[in-house]
Amino acid sequence: MKAFAMLGLNKTGWIEKDRPACGPNDAILRPIALAPCTSDVHTVWEGAIGDRKDLILGHEGVGEIVEVGELVRDFKVGDVCIVPAITPDWNSVEAQDGYQMHSGGMLGGWKFSNIKDGMFAEFFHVNDADGNLALLPEGLSPETATMLSDMVPTGFHAAELAGVRYGDNVVVVGIGPVGLMAVRGAVLKGAARIFAVGTRPNCVAVAKEYGATDIINYKNGSIVDQVMELTGGAGVDKVLQAGGTVDTFDESIRMLKPGGAIGNVNYLGSGEFIKIPREEWGVGMGHKMINAGLMPGGRRRMERLADMVLAGRVDPSKLLTHRFEGFDSIEEALMLMKDKPADLIKPVVSIKW
Ligand code: NDP
Ligand code: ZN
Repeated sequence: MKAFAMLGLNKTGWIEKDRPACGPNDAILRPIALAPCTSDVHTVWEGAIGDRKDLILGHEGVGEIVEVGELVRDFKVGDVCIVPAITPDWNSVEAQDGYQMHSGGMLGGWKFSNIKDGMFAEFFHVNDADGNLALLPEGLSPETATMLSDMVPTGFHAAELAGVRYGDNVVVVGIGPVGLMAVRGAVLKGAARIFAVGTRPNCVAVAKEYGATDIINYKNGSIVDQVMELTGGAGVDKVLQAGGTVDTFDESIRMLKPGGAIGNVNYLGSGEFIKIPREEWGVGMGHKMINAGLMPGGRRRMERLADMVLAGRVDPSKLLTHRFEGFDSIEEALMLMKDKPADLIKPVVSIKW
């Protein structure tokens, strides 16, 4: 089969590979809509998971089932499904402890283009099909549904990790597609003011549509100073990190109130340690919590999120700024994600076979 892969560090290209085999609990799908991700860029051009040869990229997609294992109960050939970026082993002890994203070891639920090949191929493999596929409901387009693989569940997870409550004032650092979904997640969890940090005009416009009340440009000076000025020196209850750097933790601690919490879903790609400002952290007694995690993944989360889209609670189609037709456009779509032109939020590729 034909596939688009990481050939090595800083190198991508088209390759031929064997079609994946289907185990008794698994499914094989053909993609019908795919989206590249900032994480693919981290993988190829920033060495996030080290050097890899001929690793097929991609973990955001909707596909049609072409084969199911003999133990799969709820899905059959021909079903069109949303596939989460994180596909845990649901019978693992980690899943029983409530941390399915770490099934089999830290980050072990992240299988596509990490532990195994990803979705940018004529066929791709899904482990534990009953636990990890969700039927695409009527009324939801495959293109919009690709945003349920990773962008919506990850952005919402930032709000979950921070424990946003009614009336919280919230800063969202980074308003790429993940941060924009964190903005929406915070709105749905009852936030009062939402300070969205970013600069790209398209993202700023969509952040306001999703419910951001204030926009902060991090290029105009310290985020902390701007937040403190806007809150009369009080700081905020929650900070959702969906962009920035390792130093963002330092700033986030400084702008949090005692009792506040950080929810981080941002990938931290450099340095050995993360700095925490000792005094602003209440010399260890400030009740300023730091929660950071990979999104949960799995079938029920996709089904719940799809219900939210159908009920009009969140419209992820606003993220789709660039649309492509045909499997071969994957390459152009990924390069767009790498170069991040000012008008980009997220590209999506529609595929007909
Ligand atoms: P984008 O690159 O599209 O967005 C990043 C955002 O951060 C932009 O709004 C950008 O602003 C802003 N930013 C950049 N530098 C700074 C800075 N110094 N201070 C404050 N803000 C800054 O990324 P995505 O939305 O696609 O992804 C966000 C992160 O989430 C990535 O690190 C990705 O790897 C990670 N991720 C994590 C997952 C998980 O499960 N935990 C899953 C998927 C992704 P500007 O408007 O100027 O561009
Ligand atoms: Zn992704």
